[in-house]
Amino acid sequence: MFDLILRRARLCDEQRVDIAIRDGKIAAVGEVNGPAQQERDLGGRFYVSAGWIDSHVHCYPKSPIYHDEADAIGVAQGVTTVVDAGSTGADHIDDFYQLTRPATTNVRALINISRTGIVTQNELADMAQIDGEAVVQAVKRRPDFIVGLKARMSSSVVGNNGIQPLVRAKAIQQAAGNLPLMVHIGNNPPVLEEIADLLTSGDIITHCFNGKPNRILSPQGELKAAVKNAIARGVKLDIGHGSASFSFEVARQAIAQGILPETISSDIYCRNRLNGPVHSLAHVMSKFFSIGMTLPQVIDCVTHKAAAGLRLTGKGRLSEGYDADLTIFTVKEEARPFVDAEGEQVTGEQHVLPLAVVIAGQWHLTDEGKANHVFDL
Ligand SMILES: [Zn+2]
Repeated sequence: MFDLILRRARLCDEQRVDIAIRDGKIAAVGEVNGPAQQERDLGGRFYVSAGWIDSHVHCYPKSPIYHDEADAIGVAQGVTTVVDAGSTGADHIDDFYQLTRPATTNVRALINISRTGIVTQNELADMAQIDGEAVVQAVKRRPDFIVGLKARMSSSVVGNNGIQPLVRAKAIQQAAGNLPLMVHIGNNPPVLEEIADLLTSGDIITHCFNGKPNRILSPQGELKAAVKNAIARGVKLDIGHGSASFSFEVARQAIAQGILPETISSDIYCRNRLNGPVHSLAHVMSKFFSIGMTLPQVIDCVTHKAAAGLRLTGKGRLSEGYDADLTIFTVKEEARPFVDAEGEQVTGEQHVLPLAVVIAGQWHLTDEGKANHVFDL
């Protein structure tokens, strides 16, 4: 007896399959026989992928600047796992953990190398706030919650410290079991070349297609050599759209040179969710259709590539034995504007609309799914 069977689910490669779930895990994919407590027929029309993972969000509710509720940016928007990117450091990470236990959405965190996290905008301006031992102890206390480290390496954050916070971050990473390190890039100093040269395999550059002068492309539009070398060493590019960190122009030029993002993430928090230009992970994903990425490519960036990048074991694939986290969605053809963080507007023709999710085997409607009543069976 299965708990739930989704019948005639449409996959991104246009196969149609049944998906059976038992005890919070995917029990079978293909043609499924056998009874279930609950069945839902997707009629071959609605897409199902592994549950979407947003690799860069802000959802520490007490953060004075960048806060949101996990379920508002998670389950309500078709995202089954959100990874908070450094809102909290060692001082607040336990509070953050406790506050997010009631959430339906899976919540994980990258711990800020600064004890204070993003309580202020310049958390790495005082080197005394970078406490490696406090990070190591936090990771020991919360090994399933803390999946990596975060360092924001832009001028407004590091003050007069230049590249030094990243040198410390790399040492702390070693001491903390070589967890993935996500590095935010923005205005210099430090210049991007200095940052890229320090990164090693598995490290993640977020805000990779930002439009600031310290961007990944040279003034001639070519990928900077230091970034090219970093990618060759296994450094990964993450979108982290946010309020100020995504440029269609940079994305177009990079993608034209074959530089695709490894992960598509939103850098969402309540203000850029409500006022734009982020709105939701689905909205950010849809922007990539208008610059030449395909549906399977976009979905890969929020499922198995996101899971691999942050080592989320058991997540990211629609395969037997994986966690029963799924996103059920449709792709709507409609001309609607997309705006990047630089104010450039393009017309999007295709939009992914999440309708429902399964999280740990349980079915939930998204806001979109509640609004259009498609699953009122
Ligand atoms: Zn962020």
